[in-house]
Amino acid sequence: MSADVETSLRAPKAYDLARQAIAAMEANKVWPTALNFELWVHYLAAKDSPLGAEIDQMLEAGEPFTDSVGETLAAKFLPKQKLSGEILDAGDALSKELDSVTRAIESARESSEAYGQELANASESLATEDTGNIKAMVDTLTQATQRVRQENETLESQLADTKDEVGRLREHLEQTRREAMTDGLTSLANRKAFDEALERACEQAEAEGGILSLAVLDIDHFKAFNDTWGHQTGDQVLRYVASVIGRSGDAPRTAARYGGEEFALIFPGEGARMALSILEEIRAEVASRVLKRRSTNEDLGAVTLSAGLAERHPGEGPASLVERADAALYASKRGGRNRTSAADPIAAAA
Ligand code: GH3
Ligand code: MG
Ligand code: MG
Repeated sequence: MSADVETSLRAPKAYDLARQAIAAMEANKVWPTALNFELWVHYLAAKDSPLGAEIDQMLEAGEPFTDSVGETLAAKFLPKQKLSGEILDAGDALSKELDSVTRAIESARESSEAYGQELANASESLATEDTGNIKAMVDTLTQATQRVRQENETLESQLADTKDEVGRLREHLEQTRREAMTDGLTSLANRKAFDEALERACEQAEAEGGILSLAVLDIDHFKAFNDTWGHQTGDQVLRYVASVIGRSGDAPRTAARYGGEEFALIFPGEGARMALSILEEIRAEVASRVLKRRSTNEDLGAVTLSAGLAERHPGEGPASLVERADAALYASKRGGRNRTSAADPIAAAA
């Protein structure tokens, strides 16, 4: 949680804030999941925050606060704290592990020091004493050697454990990082991953003089679809559309859920003509599929997509590219939906 919200939750009014959150969630038909609770506490603690503004806007528009809306908001506004919490935990585990290895090394060092001392004593005795004591000396040295060997074995096995633990932590961090970049509902890249991928793709195109295209896709009249069939069915449609888009999203492309019912495809190294043919395939496939409601097998008809496409101009950054692709998307909407528009005229195939 942010420091402000954290402080509010430790203040004497904490229970008030928690009760208000529950009441507001109930009033707005929001399920009391842990994630939703966290979002609503943030919202009530700081209504003038970007999260507050977005929730206010949703409430004014009468948009239902579904689980996927909650996930999207959390991914947008709460991602860092989950990540940093995981990293702190991982860091704790790692530093405990390293402490125990440090202790083992220290104790191995001490016993090898003691061993060295025993050897020094022995060699002094050999120089000065008669041979009668040799057996006792050898016994002492044998015992000391065994102790050192045992210490070394312990140290080795602790180092092996640590290596395993570091491997597990690395895997865990990698998984956490993947989750932080993935949209929970559709498993496509989320907005954060999209922003990073587009930034990288623009930099690479600029550095290598390569081409790059960007498409944004938006489901047509999706509000009406939700109003008719309910949000759960709407969520199933989002998953279906995402799966069609995702099939064209293998690396180096990136397929992302850009926002609620908006998607994006990044095409590094590909021009508008190639991107247009992919978009047309996606659009036609979605439009031709008669959807069935899973629970009742009811016929839902088809949903359609509008898309906008822009090929990067030399020197152009992500913001301008997104803006032009968005403008093309709006041209598709204005032109009657279920179509793809490009920001610039596309040269006919040679
Ligand atoms: P247009 O053709 O102009 O795009 O119309 P639209 O109704 O699709 O556009 P609008 O932006 O007005 O509404 C988008 C709707 O998408 C509003 C909301 O109900 C729905 N939506 C957004 N996110 C989700 C989600 O995660 N799940 C579901 N089921 N619906 C969502
Ligand atoms: Mg939209
Ligand atoms: Mg729409």
